[in-house]
Amino acid sequence: MSQLNVLNRYLFTDAHARGELVQLSSSFKSIIKNHNYPAGVEKLLGELLSATCLLTATLKFEGDITVQLQGDGPVGYMSVSGNNNQQMRGIAKMAEETSAETLQTLIGKGTMIITIRPSVGEAYQGVVALDKETLADCLAHYFEVSEQIPTKIWLFCDTEQQLSAGALVQLLPDGDGSIENKEQQLSDFEHLCQLTNTIKSEEVFSLEAEALLYRLYHQEKVNIFEPQAVTYVCGCSADKCLSAISQIEPSEIKAILAEQGKISMTCDYCITTYDFDELSLQSFISKVNH
Ligand SMILES: [Zn+2]
Repeated sequence: MSQLNVLNRYLFTDAHARGELVQLSSSFKSIIKNHNYPAGVEKLLGELLSATCLLTATLKFEGDITVQLQGDGPVGYMSVSGNNNQQMRGIAKMAEETSAETLQTLIGKGTMIITIRPSVGEAYQGVVALDKETLADCLAHYFEVSEQIPTKIWLFCDTEQQLSAGALVQLLPDGDGSIENKEQQLSDFEHLCQLTNTIKSEEVFSLEAEALLYRLYHQEKVNIFEPQAVTYVCGCSADKCLSAISQIEPSEIKAILAEQGKISMTCDYCITTYDFDELSLQSFISKVNH
């Protein structure tokens, strides 16, 4: 694939449905880099990354989406966030070492929490139990209960090649409401799902989006929008660290500096360490002298 971090959105013009395909390489590599996650954790995180890309692409406004998995398993917490510009970051927090491979054995008994934060307006949250076999099935269940729109998601991850991918087929919500039409729409939706079901992981990781979409849907009328680049953006910065340090009591800052000569903060997501010495913290500690 020459276009490795790209999200494609398309309309099935005769079927009252939409679709998305995401194929990721370096953005997935960046998320797992320096973490030394076990293979099973990398695979689930890769799936969660593609899933979150697909979800953010369904946003009709500026904002971001965070998808969190929480449970009592060896991976107590996993989270990926992305915004409408497809800038993504994510993390897994291990409660213990694990060689587990499946959603159930990694996360354990738990929930998926989807938080949608529009740039303007209130944030809202949807919560579903992680009681299906795969992440893709849990997401389909989420759409069923929270949005009530028939949606199917396919997720792929190859940890050896460090590639992640996903596809989505969704009925458009605003049908004309007549029962005949609804039945036709549902049968079109099922047909598109059957076609999408034939994606093999080797082709989703080797074919360009256009070739793959042609392979799957050449008998359908498909209107493909301009592809969108997906990037890894952690969002951490020295300024954000300084604003966190400004919350610490000046006397405590002085005490840490006296003991360690600096204050170090490491970003949980990208493992970048920011060091601040006495000089760079002067404005915070000068308060203690007044
Ligand atoms: Zn960071």
